[in-house]
Amino acid sequence: MILVNDNFKELPAVYLFTQISRILAKYKEDKDAIPLIRMDIGDVPGPVADCVAKAMHKAVDDLAKQDTFKGYGPEQGYAFLRDIISQKDYKERGINIDPSEIFINDGAKCDLGNLGDILSKDCKVAVMDPSYPAYIDDNVIDGREGKLEGNKYSRITYLKCKAENNFFPELPETNVDLIYICSPNNPTGSVLPKAELDKWVEYAKENQSLIIFDSAYEAYIRNPELPKSIYEIEGAKDVAIEIRSFSKTGGFTGIRCGYSVVPKELMGVYSTGEKVALNPIWSRRQTTKFNGASYISQRGAEALYSEEGRKSVIEMTDKFILNASNLRKMFENAGWKVTGGTDSPYVWAGNPYGMSSYEVFEKILKECGISTTPGSGFGEEGEGYIRLSGFNTKENTDKAIERIEKWLTNH
Ligand SMILES: *Cc1c(COP(=O)(O)O)cnc(C)c1O
Repeated sequence: MILVNDNFKELPAVYLFTQISRILAKYKEDKDAIPLIRMDIGDVPGPVADCVAKAMHKAVDDLAKQDTFKGYGPEQGYAFLRDIISQKDYKERGINIDPSEIFINDGAKCDLGNLGDILSKDCKVAVMDPSYPAYIDDNVIDGREGKLEGNKYSRITYLKCKAENNFFPELPETNVDLIYICSPNNPTGSVLPKAELDKWVEYAKENQSLIIFDSAYEAYIRNPELPKSIYEIEGAKDVAIEIRSFSKTGGFTGIRCGYSVVPKELMGVYSTGEKVALNPIWSRRQTTKFNGASYISQRGAEALYSEEGRKSVIEMTDKFILNASNLRKMFENAGWKVTGGTDSPYVWAGNPYGMSSYEVFEKILKECGISTTPGSGFGEEGEGYIRLSGFNTKENTDKAIERIEKWLTNH
């Protein structure tokens, strides 16, 4: 008998972004519709920097010569990349992360799901509401969700992020074991300041919880006061795993490369009460189920740390921040509740008309030919909001702003 994982029945029928793609495909079939501008995109428009392309070309040449050919690489990633990450992303910023604590992967999304392998089904999970849908769906697949009651799972704690508290997540009243924090957050674009992260590290210590800190958008932080890494917080190495990605920072969404940091200090406990370090357990998991990220993508990622590479990251992210900040200003001028668009490529805009997220999404699509993402798709607290992204050309963004501005003045 092919017994299937029953947890799949508990998932929403389709992933949010798949659902939006279907609606947009239908829109495009209508010959009379206004030509579509995509402002819902969670993908970078590219291209990758020259230095990245060159490094990958050279990597291909390495593979094509006997003397420099590479077969299976280390499951944890090549030393050249782990060393440079340790140096440039951490040591140069005063954070001590050893290369042995860094695990290279084929993208952050995989590790977000894979981490569930080393954690018990009994862990109580907390997620920001709204947040990136994969956090919940991954835990549903693993069986940590409980029952679906309305739009919420009974065993998941939803950390409300509202305008009144700057879209920072509220500390839970009960004990939770596993906390997903994303900063800058997708979808709200809000960034947690040091004082907020201090609270979470303290909470995790007191409650013996694990923080999974997703900083896929750290390269968008411009305000020097805002932390880019959870390890900027004292004691965080005892309680946090950090997940990073080259996708949104270096245009690697198609290349596939990212990394996770699992500190040596981080301890968990077996059901028998026996303590266990997570770093070797994660390494064991990786050596069993993963054969390493591609040599070519790792050489491409290494190039992002060269002087030229670093410049390219700033130039690319600057462009998307500018687009997002222009979108933000437009909604602000129209009296919407807005966040993001400063240290993030996303703008999170709440309509003042009392319309639902899907109503606003449909109106802006039909009347302006512009796609957004309905905020309610990211959680109940997202109701009434839409997400727009700066991942577009300035030309397209300006055109979109012109259309939405006109629409806003008629409302
Ligand atoms: C895009 C995104 C990721 C996934 O990144 P990949 O490395 O491309 O898998 C992870 N977390 C958040 C919040 C994202 O927006």
